[in-house]
Amino acid sequence: MQIDLSHPDFYNALPLLRQIEAAGFEAYFVGGSVRDALLGLPIHDVDIASSAYPEEIKQIFRKTVDTGIQHGTVMVLDHGTGYEVTTFRTESTYQDFRRPDHVTFVRSLEEDLKRRDFTVNALAVKQDGTVVDLFGGLDDLAARRLVAVGNAHDRFHEDALRMMRAVRFESQLDFAIEAQTEAAIAENAPLLEKISIERIASEFTRLLLGIARKAGVTTFLETGLFKYVPNLATEEVGLRHFASLSDAQLPDAESAWTLLATCLQVDAGKMLRDLKQANALISHVQHATALVGALPNATSLQLFDAGAEAVATAAVVQPYRQPDFDADGLLARYQALPIHSAKDLTISGQDLIKAGMTPGPLLGKTLRHLTEQVVADAIENEPTILLHAAFA
Ligand code: ATP
Ligand code: MG
Repeated sequence: MQIDLSHPDFYNALPLLRQIEAAGFEAYFVGGSVRDALLGLPIHDVDIASSAYPEEIKQIFRKTVDTGIQHGTVMVLDHGTGYEVTTFRTESTYQDFRRPDHVTFVRSLEEDLKRRDFTVNALAVKQDGTVVDLFGGLDDLAARRLVAVGNAHDRFHEDALRMMRAVRFESQLDFAIEAQTEAAIAENAPLLEKISIERIASEFTRLLLGIARKAGVTTFLETGLFKYVPNLATEEVGLRHFASLSDAQLPDAESAWTLLATCLQVDAGKMLRDLKQANALISHVQHATALVGALPNATSLQLFDAGAEAVATAAVVQPYRQPDFDADGLLARYQALPIHSAKDLTISGQDLIKAGMTPGPLLGKTLRHLTEQVVADAIENEPTILLHAAFA
């Protein structure tokens, strides 16, 4: 089987393969870019695997960066693009179900491909475009199925994150997980407790954003993986409801987490903090979840308090819960609010102080009260009117 390497991402990286081979080593394109190219999907970050050791790679290329040298990865800089070149390796002993105790560099491509997670991720491509398929990855790709390389039970025992990767790929690629591989996930699900929350959450977010979210979430439930994720463990009913909603792909992490949070009994902020998500995401989802909770009858003040970003997210999310929801109407209502921030009031705290109000909690309360009145269209946003109302 040949692969077309005229795609610019591969084509531009071909000189690297040639240079490594000219120095007497083997080099291949491997991993997700090969899989995605064969599926006709857009590719991102082309990874290269080589028999050359990191020190040897550094001698071949002028510009390199030690991005992950302890794992055998060197970044080669070529005309402004960085390519990760990783030495063939085996990950011999895993004692804690998550990280190899040490990696051993090897000269054999087969040894390297053996330690990869799924057969469709264990394909390699030579510089002439020949696909090296040692584990039936091409057949599995054609059948759209995820099969662990080698013994599934052993592979999940070595690295429990692979189970989350399986459900992530199921959703991302719309592949089915082969029966033995799925059974091994169900059997080893408790090992997920050994994996860092960040890595679990990262795979779960990608699951939420996939084209076959429903299938991914369903397997996440059926295999019991959900029982080992903080805040989701107690949410089987909510997760089932989530899986029953429209399967249309979600556009971003904010809308994905908002839709999920509205289906669960847990506090969105707590869940996302426990899952170690970024503060900006947490705040966005909290605001959007609060607003979605008030739909379809949200007040102007609820729209105002949510803010532009959360309103946009709510407009994306609500149609999943209520197919006839008028999302454009919601956005138009937000646009039409008299003000969009307390700063848009025509008087400030300073103005109130000048007019005789003492600085303190009352000042804040008064400004908030004026804001509420203006947002509700109860008074006009005019300085004299606002001043009068402030002291009324
Ligand atoms: P994507 O880039 O779309 O996330 P990918 O398959 O490239 O998909 P990466 O995490 O970039 O995923 O990993 C690159 C390759 O490294 C994988 O295709 C797989 O061969 C291997 N790999 C990554 N993580 C693991 C793991 N936990 N266990 C075994 N092999 C892995
Ligand atoms: Mg990748």
